[in-house]
Amino acid sequence: MFSRSFLFAVLSSTAFLHSVSFVRGYKIAVIGGGIGGTATAYFLRNTLDPQPQVDVFEENEVGGRLDLSTLSGFQYELGGSIIHPRNKHVVELVNRLGLEHRSDPPFSKTSFFDGKEIVFEDSSWTVVDLAKMAWRYGPMTLYKANKQLQDMLGHFDRIYDIQESGDCFANVSELLSAMSPTFPAMTQTSADTIEDLSAEFMREIVGAALRVNYGQYSANATKFVTFVSLAGSEGGLWAIDGGNKRLPYALLAAADAFLIPHKVRKVERSQDERYLLHWDQVSDTYDAVVVAAPFDGTLELPSNMQASVRPMEGIWVTLIEASAVNSSYFGRPVSDVIAVGLAWFNSIGRVWPVDGRTPDKPVYKIFSAEKPSRQLLESVFVDVGQVEQHHWLAYPHYDWSKNADASFQLGPGLWYNNAIEWTASAMEMSLVGAKNAANCAAKHLGLALKQPEPIDKDEL
Ligand SMILES: Cc1cc2nc3c(=O)[nH]c(=O)nc-3n(C[C@H](O)[C@H](O)[C@H](O)COP(=O)(O)OP(=O)(O)OC[C@H]3O[C@@H](n4cnc5c(N)ncnc54)[C@H](O)[C@@H]3O)c2cc1C
Repeated sequence: MFSRSFLFAVLSSTAFLHSVSFVRGYKIAVIGGGIGGTATAYFLRNTLDPQPQVDVFEENEVGGRLDLSTLSGFQYELGGSIIHPRNKHVVELVNRLGLEHRSDPPFSKTSFFDGKEIVFEDSSWTVVDLAKMAWRYGPMTLYKANKQLQDMLGHFDRIYDIQESGDCFANVSELLSAMSPTFPAMTQTSADTIEDLSAEFMREIVGAALRVNYGQYSANATKFVTFVSLAGSEGGLWAIDGGNKRLPYALLAAADAFLIPHKVRKVERSQDERYLLHWDQVSDTYDAVVVAAPFDGTLELPSNMQASVRPMEGIWVTLIEASAVNSSYFGRPVSDVIAVGLAWFNSIGRVWPVDGRTPDKPVYKIFSAEKPSRQLLESVFVDVGQVEQHHWLAYPHYDWSKNADASFQLGPGLWYNNAIEWTASAMEMSLVGAKNAANCAAKHLGLALKQPEPIDKDEL
């Protein structure tokens, strides 16, 4: 007979864990516990048959660039905040996991600031807005901008059927081509090549959309990311009640994957052609690996399976309690302001708590490249209260002239979801990357793909 301590030693050894995983099936590592990594775990566990074991590594907090900040007892979105109604992966997962939609009250009035003065203002009455915009930019420009945007969204919609059928793409340009043969070129040409739009429209509306959504100017941005920004200016935008961060947590729970709260330092090829991951003082072997975070050079990968480190845009998010925006700073009364020219901020907008309550004092969110001082904030706002500030490496710095194609597949059974971010960064794009990784894992490991089972929401 074996002693109890011997049995315990055997049960806790890595060799035993491997033999268990062999009985259970394949074992896959997901590096990164943001929306992309947790969705990868969800798709791997719920659509692959037989179900693999999945370990999710997260060095910080689950949710990554989806996070909340608290002011006077109310929570606000600090990172990714709005979801487009045509983001079908998000919509479907939110419904499946029993989360609720939340829509903030519409902006009352948005002013466009060129660094010196307000150059244009829209009102809360849509018909008036359209008339004002048609007057300023010309009706044909508005028609053509909208037509090009709707055509692009229509082509983008094709990805859902393509991914449903199980297709897997080794690189981003192949995935984009499957949606539309025009898409790959749109990621490598400048926003300035967009045809038939007036110079004012490009400078003010397109410039504002890029500034608000990606903190960047149209001169460097790609045509693709410019249209994604314009889509972010459409109506019907929503968020998840209680905070968008609830989705990665719910995905992880529904995946029933192991969360390993550590930074993976190194991925190397094992002798049996699997992957050996190193974290803390521990190593373990996996049949496949998915990297679900922007590659920043701190994760060592096999030398022949590299992803390039690309620059990310640093953004300060400031949440500030204040009675109002100071009208004398802008020369007239304003509420929400978007910079379309030289200004220290990208945008200033009233925000609402993630639980739909109304705070005692209004709260504004400012996006800026530099951290604004309290003194500056007190000149822009009236009666300033609490302030919370956070710096993000928020999204890629887009440069159409350097935007080469990126590979999802770095090696056999090794995928890089965030290659897709250099096409456009958004929650939905991370989910497209996640579904692609799951489809590729199924192909690589010879597993069947199935529809996910209904979820027992009480267990989440
Ligand atoms: C301020 C801001 C506003 C935004 N607004 C919007 C918006 O309105 N709508 C929208 O759709 N998108 C928006 N985005 C973009 C959106 O938030 C991101 O595209 C999305 O959240 C990226 O998710 P991800 O899982 O791919 O990456 P991340 O969220 O970055 O997750 C990666 C995770 O991996 C972890 N990690 C990295 N390396 C390792 C390692 N070696 N070992 C273990 N863990 C590791 C990190 O800690 C991180 O948690 C915004 C982003 C920011 C910052």
